Amino acid sequence: MGKGTLIIGASHAGVQCASALRDAGYAERIILVGEDDALPYHRPPLSKSFICAKVSEEDIELKSHAFYTDEQIELKRGLRADSICRETRTVTLSNGEVLDYDNLVLATGSRPRLWRKGEMPGNVHVLRTLADARHIIGALKATDGTVAIVGGGYVGLELAATVRTQFGRDVVIIEASRRLLSRSASPLLSDWVARQHVQAGSRLLLNTPMVGFETSNGVVDAVVLDGQPDVKAGVVILGLGIVPNEELASQAGIRCADGIMVDEFCRTDDPCVYAIGDCARFSVAQVDHTVRLECVQNAHDQARVAAATIAGNPTPYRPVPWFWSDQMGAKLQTVGFLDNTVSSITHGDIENGKGAFFHFDSEKNLCAAETVNNPAIHMQIRRALAAGKKLDQQRFEHEGKLDLKS
Ligand SMILES: Cc1cc2nc3c(=O)[nH]c(=O)nc-3n(C[C@H](O)[C@H](O)[C@H](O)COP(=O)(O)OP(=O)(O)OC[C@H]3O[C@@H](n4cnc5c(N)ncnc54)[C@H](O)[C@@H]3O)c2cc1C
Repeated sequence: MGKGTLIIGASHAGVQCASALRDAGYAERIILVGEDDALPYHRPPLSKSFICAKVSEEDIELKSHAFYTDEQIELKRGLRADSICRETRTVTLSNGEVLDYDNLVLATGSRPRLWRKGEMPGNVHVLRTLADARHIIGALKATDGTVAIVGGGYVGLELAATVRTQFGRDVVIIEASRRLLSRSASPLLSDWVARQHVQAGSRLLLNTPMVGFETSNGVVDAVVLDGQPDVKAGVVILGLGIVPNEELASQAGIRCADGIMVDEFCRTDDPCVYAIGDCARFSVAQVDHTVRLECVQNAHDQARVAAATIAGNPTPYRPVPWFWSDQMGAKLQTVGFLDNTVSSITHGDIENGKGAFFHFDSEKNLCAAETVNNPAIHMQIRRALAAGKKLDQQRFEHEGKLDLKS
């Protein structure tokens, strides 16, 4: 027996990698180290069904206790990997324990971007972990008055939707850009989402940078804005984006550039070290810059790619990225890369909550699709793109039922 595979980070990517290794017949030792005390859990429900108590902690576990025992995956919870020594192929943990590896998989994910040097008065929150979600639930119960959401990305907007519709609280969404979801959605979808939030009674402040907080006795009173009156708030939730957890790799001399750089087999510039999920940056054929994909699909797919390589069956990663968001009673699903969009078509009855936005590149081929309550079309497009099909704009130009199977 060798020293086996050591996986750092026990969330979507890390757990999936351990599971995929066993599925691929890998019989060596697998150790999975995670900083979080909780049994690994799904993050997406934290801003949706978990925050309003529609699902429990048990419901959101990624795998049961028995899975780790049955699959002989040694799960070490509540421990941080502090350093990597690539010469001795060892990792030192926060309790002083030193672990050997033949293959090291970094699945360290990302963390919320904080406000100025981490300045966090009482009742100012971020949402990444189960513990964060518990704190937010506690704060919502213990306060009344307005909830301010700073940052109109997906996590902030999902929380805004849940807090407004499930808790009935006054919500103000504060966004520095001219539109919501500016990094991850087309202007068409941004506008649609903005209308839903406003119709539900939330106040939306676009093009409005936050400057700081007003506090009393260390607890937030208001969000201070640039050139506008302060927004009084009992609870503030920051959704300012995320930062990749790359320091463990960069301190070991592994190449990083806003993410741990990997090739199409998820290998870093050290052939024994892999990086997967939110923390990994890589090249894709569809766009001319490297990407980090911040979604469950990418965490799972890269986990399987790294596992296959380690198990001796390397298969390159050719992503067709997709993700979903649930807010305001709508299921929003996006597939593909929006970067190359030169024209777009609106399909279906989007104003009444069911339709799609299709986006085309300069050669009039579909590069991305955003669907609203339309999982069937989302799936058809995902399958077609994954099969390498080109979907030309003409197919989408009629108003009738779409047929993408032929
Ligand atoms: C509230 C919320 C809602 C979301 N909703 C959606 C959605 O609807 N759809 C979607 O596709 N995606 C969604 N996402 C994004 C999705 O959850 C992430 O893309 C996914 O979690 C990435 O998985 P990961 O394993 O790469 O990283 P992470 O989930 O960030 O996990 C990394 C783990 O590594 C641990 N770790 C880091 N450093 C160390 C260390 N040195 N030692 C030990 N452990 C370490 C961390 O504690 C963490 O548990 C959501 C995210 C959040 C926070």
